[in-house]
Amino acid sequence: MKFATKAIHAGIEPDPGTGAVMTPIFQTSTYAQDSPGVHKGFEYARTQNPTRSALEKNLAALENGLDAVCFSSGLAAQDAVMKLLKSGDEVLAVNDLYGGSYRQMVRVYAQWGLKSRFVDMYTASNVESEIGPDTKLIWIETPTNPMLNIVDIAAVCAIARSKGVLVCVDNTFASPYLQNPLDLGADIVLHSATKYIGGHSDVVHGCLIVKDADLAARLHFIQNATGAVPGPQDCFLVLRGIKTLHLRVQRACENAAVIAQYLAQHPKVEKVYWPGFESHPNHHVARKQMRMFGGMVSFDLKDNSLENANHVLSNTHLFTLAESLGGVESLIGHPASMTHASIPREERLKVGLTDSLIRLSVGIEDADDLIADLEQALDGVGKGVEVEDAPVVQAY
Ligand SMILES: *Cc1c(COP(=O)(O)O)cnc(C)c1O
Repeated sequence: MKFATKAIHAGIEPDPGTGAVMTPIFQTSTYAQDSPGVHKGFEYARTQNPTRSALEKNLAALENGLDAVCFSSGLAAQDAVMKLLKSGDEVLAVNDLYGGSYRQMVRVYAQWGLKSRFVDMYTASNVESEIGPDTKLIWIETPTNPMLNIVDIAAVCAIARSKGVLVCVDNTFASPYLQNPLDLGADIVLHSATKYIGGHSDVVHGCLIVKDADLAARLHFIQNATGAVPGPQDCFLVLRGIKTLHLRVQRACENAAVIAQYLAQHPKVEKVYWPGFESHPNHHVARKQMRMFGGMVSFDLKDNSLENANHVLSNTHLFTLAESLGGVESLIGHPASMTHASIPREERLKVGLTDSLIRLSVGIEDADDLIADLEQALDGVGKGVEVEDAPVVQAY
């Protein structure tokens, strides 16, 4: 089956009891047993739920995996991966990663002796010399957030395999429609399904997809033993979102391409970060491992004062100033104060994440309207118009 067919059919059967075409929301915590231990495969809903099982089968198919495990959020999914490790082990992570992932590594797991190091993986060969005796897991995010750097998944996985190190790829930014890390040698794929997979900004959800039965069993064990399971209604919403994943991501990518090109020629814009540009340092890698270049675009203004960035951030009407990404609606964000506020400023500046960087999650509206919205917001930049200070937003 090809992608669009899998999105709609994989793991989805009409309900055997009623014929319901859409997977029912099994809102139950427990299941009747005929006699002790004799049941229909479902005992207690932390362990199994049919709505969740259908979603797990579907996600496994979308990532060409063997099995998937669903969680109550993307960070809960990451937490389960971290629990595969033990005190003294080290995670080698890409140096420009989601702020919440960084925070979990350095503020939660470090205090239990689980080390993490953040390194430049954009030249894959760098990774080889960084792997030490304690390195047990390599953590890749690509495209990265918010600099839209690209890591060569196949090259890093080949190095990791030669050293017996596990690789987890956070595939949230690409979505399974654009990129399938298991095919490139990764052991675990993580998604914050809150983003493109759910796609409608109405649910928080996460998942892991693996191709190895033993690893799947260990993750299901951790999921059941530690309990960060999603509710059935959330699983239903994610299943519903997936039915249009390919259409939504395709349109978002098309819109992002038009917007990246528009911004690149704008006299007030200094730099646009988007992997589709031939001048992007790893454009050739993006071309090789992604189907399209994604719906995310970041940019910096020529006069890159915080005041000017705030003007743009406060004056768009279709692009809503908000955390998150990957929904049908376009969002604009300020990584330094929002998604990445939990990363120290010196660390942020090292990867080019300036105080004035603006990040767009391009939605599936009409590109002309989105450009007109950016045009009018950029128009006021540098005109000395009084704007309110952007509020200081809590780091999520
Ligand atoms: C949002 C996000 C996460 C965390 O997911 P939640 O569902 O918010 O817990 C992890 N990685 C990336 C790249 C994200 O964008």
